[in-house]
Amino acid sequence: MTLDDAGRRLAETAIGPVELGRSLAGLTTYRLGGPAALYLEPAGEGDLLALGAALSASDVGPEVPVLVLGRGSNVVISDRGFPGIVIRMGAAFQFIEEIGPASLRAGASTPLPMLANWAARRALSGLEFAVGIPGSVGGAVRMNAGAHEGDFASILISVSVYDLDSLALRTIERDELGLGYRSSNLTDRRLVCSAHLELEPADPSDIRARMDAYRRHRAETQPGALQNAGSTFVNPPGDSAGRLVEAAGLKGYRVGGVRVSELHANFFVASDDATAQDVYDLVHDVKRRVMERFGVELQPEVRFVGPFEPMTAAMGTES
Ligand SMILES: Cc1cc2nc3c(=O)[nH]c(=O)nc-3n(C[C@H](O)[C@H](O)[C@H](O)COP(=O)(O)OP(=O)(O)OC[C@H]3O[C@@H](n4cnc5c(N)ncnc54)[C@H](O)[C@@H]3O)c2cc1C
Repeated sequence: MTLDDAGRRLAETAIGPVELGRSLAGLTTYRLGGPAALYLEPAGEGDLLALGAALSASDVGPEVPVLVLGRGSNVVISDRGFPGIVIRMGAAFQFIEEIGPASLRAGASTPLPMLANWAARRALSGLEFAVGIPGSVGGAVRMNAGAHEGDFASILISVSVYDLDSLALRTIERDELGLGYRSSNLTDRRLVCSAHLELEPADPSDIRARMDAYRRHRAETQPGALQNAGSTFVNPPGDSAGRLVEAAGLKGYRVGGVRVSELHANFFVASDDATAQDVYDLVHDVKRRVMERFGVELQPEVRFVGPFEPMTAAMGTES
C-alpha cells in the first residue's frame, strides 16, 4: 500500500483535513517550499490515533519521512516539497487551561505571544521572553525556544506526546527531553500535543515592563515580519553568530532572492522571487565564508526539510 492509499484510508476516518499534494509555503514564515505528499491537520488527538491506525494497516513503514509543523517559523521547506507525511498542529491544539495557581497546560499550536499575554494578565512571570517569538508551544518545546535569558526548559514540567512508534499518547517529563541550547531529543515521531508549564506570581506592572522592553528591542534590532525564520545559526560558544557574519562583511550579501539582513546579520530575509534553494545556498555560502575567515563552524538553527541540491561553489553577490 502506498502513501496515497494510506492517505485515502486516513481521509475516511480522520475528522481534520487530509490532503495529497497540499502546498506548504503559506504555512511557513519564509512562505517558501513545495507540497506535502500527504498532509494531515488533526482535529484532535483522535485524528493522531487514526493516523497511527492507517499507517499500521498499510505497508507504509517506520522509514516514511514525517514532519510535524507548528507555525513554520523555524523551517525552510524544499522547493520540491516533502516526500512524506506532514502533520500540522492547527486550531484543535490551540488552548490554554489553568491547572493550578501558577501552572497551566497549553496546546501545541498555541502561539507564544498569546501565551505570554495570557500569563501577564494573570500576573504570572516566566513567559515574558516569548512575547516576540512567532512560534507555537510545540515548536518551542522541540527547539527549547528562548530569548532574553529565558527559555522553555526553565518553565516546562512535562509534555504530552503522541508517539508514532508505540502509537500511543504518553507524558514525558522535562528531564527526559534532553533540553539544551535550542535543542531537545524530540523527533518527528514524537508529536507534542500539549505542555504543562509552571510560572511564578509576580507584579503585573513588572511583567508588562519586561515584555514592552523585549518588544522594543526586537523592533529596533530585527527585521520583524519580513520573510525569515529568525536566527539562522545558533551562537557558537562564547560568541554571537550575527557578530561573526557581520565581521565577515556579509551584511547585505545575497544569493538569488535571499539576503543577509542589514539590520541583523543572523537573519536571512527572502524577497517574493526567492526560492528555498536560495536560502539553503546562502546559509552554506555564509557558513563557508565565516569558516574561512574565522575558523568557526556555524551550525544552522533553522531546519531544512526535504531535498536540497548541495552547494558547489560560492554564488553570492555583494549588496
Ligand atoms: C522573526 C522571528 C524571530 C524569532 N525569534 C526567536 C527567538 O528569539 N528565540 C527562539 O528560540 N526562536 C526564535 N525564532 C524561531 C522560532 O520562532 C522558534 O524556533 C519557534 O519555537 C518555532 O516554533 P514553530 O511552531 O514555528 O515551529 P516550526 O517552525 O513549525 O517547527 C520547528 C521545529 O519544531 C518541530 N515541531 C513543531 N511543532 C511540533 C510539535 N507539536 N511536536 C514536535 N515537534 C514539533 C518541527 O518539526 C521543527 O523541527 C524566531 C523566528 C522568527 C521568524
